Amino acid sequence: MIFDHDVVVVGAGLAGMRAALEAARSGADVAVVSKVHPVRSHSNAAQGGINAAIGEGDSWESHAFDTVKGADYLADQDAVEVMCEEAPTDVIEFEHMGVIFYRDAEGKLGTRAFGGASQARTYFVGDITGQALLMTLYDQILKAGVKVYEEWFGTALFVEDGACRGMVALDSLTGELHLLRAKAVIDAAGGCGRLYEPSTNALICTGDGYALAYRAGAALMDMEMVQYHPTTLAGSGFLMTEAARGEGAFLLDKNGGRFMKKYAPNKMELASRDVVSRAEATEIAQGNGIDGNVLLDLRHLGRDVILKKLPQIHEVALDYIGIDMVEKPVPVRPGMHYMMGGVKTDVNGVTTLPGLYAAGEVACVSVHGGNRLGANSLLDTIVFGRRSGKHAAQYVKNVTPTTGGESLLRAEQERLRALLARPYKGETHARVRLDLATMMDRNVGIYRDEAGLQSALRGIGELRARYESVWVGDKSRVFNQALQFVLELGYLLDIGEAVVRSALLRTESRGAQSRTDYPERNDTEWLKHILLTYTPGSEPAVSYVPVTITRWKPEVRTY
Ligand SMILES: Cc1cc2nc3c(=O)[nH]c(=O)nc-3n(C[C@H](O)[C@H](O)[C@H](O)COP(=O)(O)OP(=O)(O)OC[C@H]3O[C@@H](n4cnc5c(N)ncnc54)[C@H](O)[C@@H]3O)c2cc1C
Repeated sequence: MIFDHDVVVVGAGLAGMRAALEAARSGADVAVVSKVHPVRSHSNAAQGGINAAIGEGDSWESHAFDTVKGADYLADQDAVEVMCEEAPTDVIEFEHMGVIFYRDAEGKLGTRAFGGASQARTYFVGDITGQALLMTLYDQILKAGVKVYEEWFGTALFVEDGACRGMVALDSLTGELHLLRAKAVIDAAGGCGRLYEPSTNALICTGDGYALAYRAGAALMDMEMVQYHPTTLAGSGFLMTEAARGEGAFLLDKNGGRFMKKYAPNKMELASRDVVSRAEATEIAQGNGIDGNVLLDLRHLGRDVILKKLPQIHEVALDYIGIDMVEKPVPVRPGMHYMMGGVKTDVNGVTTLPGLYAAGEVACVSVHGGNRLGANSLLDTIVFGRRSGKHAAQYVKNVTPTTGGESLLRAEQERLRALLARPYKGETHARVRLDLATMMDRNVGIYRDEAGLQSALRGIGELRARYESVWVGDKSRVFNQALQFVLELGYLLDIGEAVVRSALLRTESRGAQSRTDYPERNDTEWLKHILLTYTPGSEPAVSYVPVTITRWKPEVRTY
């Protein structure tokens, strides 16, 4: 079938729903497409909180400086200024919509400290902040009359005369493909954590939005900047929120020493994530860990604080490794957590492809540069989600509806038919995906070098060849998850290649890009963003844009 709307938003996480709400408030006819029920989006898993300079003695300039320094000076400072200046209004608006943020003994909004921040400016709801924001926003979009195509899986963007005019999506319930035509599309399809193993991200975080936009012609920016979170649970990779360290938890080596004093004597455990993850990796490599982990010690916080402010991670550690963090330290190690790079946008979500906007983790505005500060991502989703929705609603006023797209729909139907028709032989998607993700962790993880990256590039070529023989285990139409897994794997291979190519190009160490063969930051040559544009049948086109510096000149970065 064919459906027509003014604005179609791909993704019902915080960025997508915030964009949809704003576009609807601005008078547009808006639809949201999501491969899972909206409240199951990964935003739901966000634990620690959201940053805003609201408190007395704090200022948005201080928040902006911390963000720019955290980013190792790769963030565009004009965009950071927008985000930090608008943060207080956006966060307070959520309170007015119904989010019950933590309040202190005096009844005022209370904060917790987070890494890389010079002030405690993280607002939170226990350790379920994302869930609280997401549920409230879902209420709001229903109230605003936004149409939700729930459990619909986007397979391709529709581009006509050089502009994005909709998408094709698979209704999981019936197995049918539909064409959603629009005057503008907002890509808010979230991160790509499953490119790595282990990762803190949900299984649905397969980077579909990066690949859909890239294949449609939009440029990807700074894809080498992949964040490892310092505290993921041994074994499973579940996140142990940074809020634990924000509340005062220590990181210990096997002898009980707080090793961070060697790496960040001032901020200790609350240095930025790239710094803490590297410190842990170094300690573990030097034999100072225990079975490949270090220890997260919360015992001195006491039972009351742990159960009141960190109940979820307390339960996860107990359930998954049988450790009660009130009594014993928890083994943790760095794990892939977040993608700083993404679809290049300006501060209104405008991408390099007319008619296509992007917001949230899939976008690169760029406010996180080489390393994102904890609790700045939820903020990014709501500030730039709102701005994209507003701008898109204005843009569509001057766009006439299209009547095209049916040939793309037929081509997609044929592509999926051919995938389903593959015989039961060859490879499983699960094997190829695991090989890809473990290779990314091994060769394109915390530390990188030319030889490892070249080997990863060859590896991706081999995995692509294997992908051609992956078969779809389920041949039925209704809720065919096997088919979706195979499509997702195709997206992951595209993104993996973009990450490796960008990491090879950036011959310096900055933020999350730590090249052991180029250990220094090189501002003379590399104060610039790397852009990749898809070129069918050959290597992606590479271009560069300078970093926008407004008021903070790059300095040596210590914590
Ligand atoms: C465990 C964890 C804890 C975190 N804690 C914090 C925190 O405390 N503070 C903070 O600031 N950040 C945190 N982050 C990061 C932050 O949560 C995410 O970056 C942010 O929520 C991403 O929001 P989003 O709206 O961009 O995407 P998501 O919430 O991931 O939503 C993506 C949406 O896209 C849809 N989608 C994807 N592909 C398709 C497709 N092909 N077709 C149709 N729909 C599709 C999905 O269904 C989903 O609705 C955390 C992340 C994790 C993983």
